[in-house]
Amino acid sequence: MSELVKVVLGEDRLPRQWYNLAADLPHPLPPPVDAAGQPIGPEALAAVFPMNLIEQEMSAQRWIDIPAEVLGLLKIWRPTPLYRARRLEQRLGTPAKIYYKHEGVSPPGSHKPNTAVAQAYYNREFGIKRLTTETGAGQWGSALAFACQLIGIECKVFMVRISFDQKPFRKIMMRTWGANCVASPSTETEVGKQILAEDPDTPGSLGIAISEALEQAVADEQTRYSLGSVLNHVMLHQTVIGLEAKEQLELVGDSPDVVIGCAGGGSNFAGMAFPFVADKIAGSSQVRIVATEPESCPTLTRAPFAYDSGDVAMMTPLLPMHTLGHRFIPPAIHAGGLRYHGMAPLVSHALREGLIEAAALHQLECYQAAVTFAHTEGFIPAPETSHAIAQTIREANRAKEEGKERVILLTWSGHGLMDFAGYQAFFDGQLADHSLSDEHLERYTACLADLPKPPALG
Ligand SMILES: *Cc1c(COP(=O)(O)O)cnc(C)c1O
Repeated sequence: MSELVKVVLGEDRLPRQWYNLAADLPHPLPPPVDAAGQPIGPEALAAVFPMNLIEQEMSAQRWIDIPAEVLGLLKIWRPTPLYRARRLEQRLGTPAKIYYKHEGVSPPGSHKPNTAVAQAYYNREFGIKRLTTETGAGQWGSALAFACQLIGIECKVFMVRISFDQKPFRKIMMRTWGANCVASPSTETEVGKQILAEDPDTPGSLGIAISEALEQAVADEQTRYSLGSVLNHVMLHQTVIGLEAKEQLELVGDSPDVVIGCAGGGSNFAGMAFPFVADKIAGSSQVRIVATEPESCPTLTRAPFAYDSGDVAMMTPLLPMHTLGHRFIPPAIHAGGLRYHGMAPLVSHALREGLIEAAALHQLECYQAAVTFAHTEGFIPAPETSHAIAQTIREANRAKEEGKERVILLTWSGHGLMDFAGYQAFFDGQLADHSLSDEHLERYTACLADLPKPPALG
């Protein structure tokens, strides 16, 4: 028996500032542009986001103060514990030390409320009374519902129809926190009515739900839209994860050789990684930083870096990012949070700069890794998180083959207690591995040829 290593920081150790990677990039991130390739100004986003968040989105200031009220809310579950996965190490027989940062202890069960409380706060400060958003499986919708309730504004969630019907529990979570959650497409928007008229039985899609949420935000002066990943200000709000982890590792006298996180839109990965990327840029660290994603949705590993829209209807500005094309239709894998066609521009750019690496994994390996984790550490991870765990096991096995000690730091983005349909399919042998074919990749990314191109590095 080895003794438990659980590093718990007091509330007073919660970071007071967010870290903004944009301040330190070797080459600046290309700006968002319009269809003609012209950089857009802050006003172009004003109908969708409050100006205080738009300023953060475009800021190049290295450290940004966390408002006192946001700190007070973050303290409900932060600082989150850092565990050493001793039993997992023993099971693998690896000389590697594995640490995981447990973001599943927040009330909605993932890292997402780190940005949800900040976004709800800035909107309320700007005089906004209601936020709209979209949600697939419901993780983001429930995080925003929680945040809006505690901040004191209304929350309206358009939930993709098929999930609304098949995954009732997240919907009830949102309701418990007082949000108004409707199935998308709905009869409340023009987009929704139009799509329902054409196809009354449509299962819906994230693209449709985004269009509905945007339509309602733009139509009302006191309503804005909120996005749970991808954007610069979301990456910024998540950096509390990495800032805390650094301090926790220092307390036990370790520093990571490898940092791992799964990447859907990139926010939990960036939140952990960016404070370590800063050390690499400063030349004081050689840490490897690995983003993991599904083989079936290989955005960072195979998709081009290009300007693309964030939604199917092309209502958003064009962002510079690794993208499978805005018309990408993801396969029905259970890691719902990893199925987005694009990737955070900051994460995409960091890959281009050679500051991070990426790896793609098959879902069977990920579910097996999730089960091994549950057997040894006890906690049951979200299917998204399992993509980081599987990579951790690969790195630990490599350390064993090489006979080298190695410190691995894993971002444990959330629990899987609302995701048992995926586990059941895995146990019943109903899941298969699926790679995106080159042919499909080419077909989906063909639309990028007609869009403006980001400048080459350097
Ligand atoms: C939403 C989600 C993800 C993916 O989103 P990112 O923005 O890439 O972090 C990963 N893990 C969990 C548990 C999630 O809820």
